[in-house]
Amino acid sequence: MTTPTPDFIEAIRATAASLRDELVADLRHLISTPSVTGEEGAVQEVVEAQYRRLGLEIDRWEPRVADLADWAEHVTEVENYDGRPNLVGVWPGAGGGRSIILNGHIDTVEPGDRENWTYDPYGAEIVGDRLYGRGSCDMKAGQIANQYAVRILQSLDVRLNGDVILQSTISEEDGGAGALAAVLRGYRADAAIITEPTELAVVPAQGGSLMFRIDVPGRSAHAATRNEGVSAIEKAALVLAGLLAFEQERNHSIDHPLYRDIANKIPINVGTLRAGTWPSSVPELAVMEGRAGLVPGEDLDTFKAQFLDRVEAIAAADDWLREHPPIVTFLTGQFAAADVPVDAPILTTLASAHKALTGAPPAMTAVTYGADMRHFVQAGGVPCVMYGPGDVRVAHYSNEFVPISEVVTVAETLALALCAWCGVAG
Ligand SMILES: [Zn+2]
Repeated sequence: MTTPTPDFIEAIRATAASLRDELVADLRHLISTPSVTGEEGAVQEVVEAQYRRLGLEIDRWEPRVADLADWAEHVTEVENYDGRPNLVGVWPGAGGGRSIILNGHIDTVEPGDRENWTYDPYGAEIVGDRLYGRGSCDMKAGQIANQYAVRILQSLDVRLNGDVILQSTISEEDGGAGALAAVLRGYRADAAIITEPTELAVVPAQGGSLMFRIDVPGRSAHAATRNEGVSAIEKAALVLAGLLAFEQERNHSIDHPLYRDIANKIPINVGTLRAGTWPSSVPELAVMEGRAGLVPGEDLDTFKAQFLDRVEAIAAADDWLREHPPIVTFLTGQFAAADVPVDAPILTTLASAHKALTGAPPAMTAVTYGADMRHFVQAGGVPCVMYGPGDVRVAHYSNEFVPISEVVTVAETLALALCAWCGVAG
């Protein structure tokens, strides 16, 4: 890889600066077009128009449930994807260079209670450097940064050797059916970058997660004779305590170099607990649902077996549960963990581009949440990293925002990284 000249870096910066207003306008357009998971149709119209302006070769299709059958447990089960197109735009290279996928999911979570928002979640308001709105950082900003990487190079009359494949995929928030469908449709490349909010850190590893449901049985009785019953709530408390002990043990025993600084590497969270029907009855059933985390290198099926063993051991220690064992069900929307080696070429390319533009090497961190990385790595065999604008901590909350300056930095970094990765023609 040749070192970029200071003149070229300056040209990228100047071009990005001259395109800044358009970038902000395009991002505001995406934010003001709601696209909660399941309702991505309208926003994809907007993205398609943006892709057409870049002269990309467009592929737009609605994924079919049958095509995803082999990977069904990794995504949320739906009846169909009607009205929810995936979108790919290819900027073909001159040939002979490495190809790259720049992915951004276009769905968002719900805005939640509007009372908690100071800004209209779909108003795309700007205050100082912050652009507010649902989906601003997660991850419409990333989608726009991907587009402007191409835009910057086109403005500079740069022609690349390798193909650049832009993707706007659906359904990430509930399991990633869109990214998976794109991989299975044949979109593979020599590397993929997902511009999820990482605060400009390079993320080579993402945690996995498994959603579970545990039915804990009890025995009903009138509260006045409660000793004749068995409270499912009290038994659920035993199961919960056992799971938290399991979490602690796993935190001690797991040693992944990228996760050493993370206090809870593999959180086990019980998110819902429903039990009982009446204040003066002993509850006969408690249903708990939760999420357990995994680190890269852990196999989903192996972990499932360990989880079942642990629940069995918890039950075995209790007279009632031993005879009336809790029933564990794993829910759909499973996120296998994924990582790429820390010396993977795409990592070093991205890190040196970031350093060339910002003057400092990027932070390199792992994350405990799941994302679409796994589909590229596992279903596609494509080395994939995440690097993008904004802070994931504000992603699903009220007053979500993205710093505009970070969106610009990501577009600039990607433009430079594309030159190094795909090669410049002529
Ligand atoms: Zn996201």
